[in-house]
Amino acid sequence: MEIKFIVDNNVGKLAKWLRIMGYDALLFSGEDDGRMVKVALAQNRVILTKDTQIMKRRLVTSGRLKAILIEDDDIGAQLHQVVEALNLDYHFSPFSICLECNQRLVERDKDAVREVVPPYVFKTQRLYMECPSCHRIYWRGTHWQAMNRELEKLAGE
Ligand SMILES: [Zn+2]
Repeated sequence: MEIKFIVDNNVGKLAKWLRIMGYDALLFSGEDDGRMVKVALAQNRVILTKDTQIMKRRLVTSGRLKAILIEDDDIGAQLHQVVEALNLDYHFSPFSICLECNQRLVERDKDAVREVVPPYVFKTQRLYMECPSCHRIYWRGTHWQAMNRELEKLAGE
């Protein structure tokens, strides 16, 4: 079964990087911990947080709900901790989750994006993915490559 996450505000940057890796990582921006715990339980998500109070909840201590207490402030170290704890793959499924809204991307025909991507991109890229929610179009251009390099740096590759 695929691992899914709910990422607490206090370690919010993790959501972006987990999405880049291809993991479903919901960002929880509310204040109510109880609500985050409820969503995690209902959607079978692993909680990532710096909040020690969450780790003391019975649902977590009993093992019904999985939560990881993030220790470091550095995003590279945070990511390492999660990857180690759950044996994740830095290159699990790149290019598959919208970085803005965490929706699974859908492949689009080249012809379908002609009007919405810059002409240079259209000429040079063949594979396009669209977010069904915000309708952003993704392609493996220079922006994507730069993010990938940054991920490799974080991963220590
Ligand atoms: Zn989106």
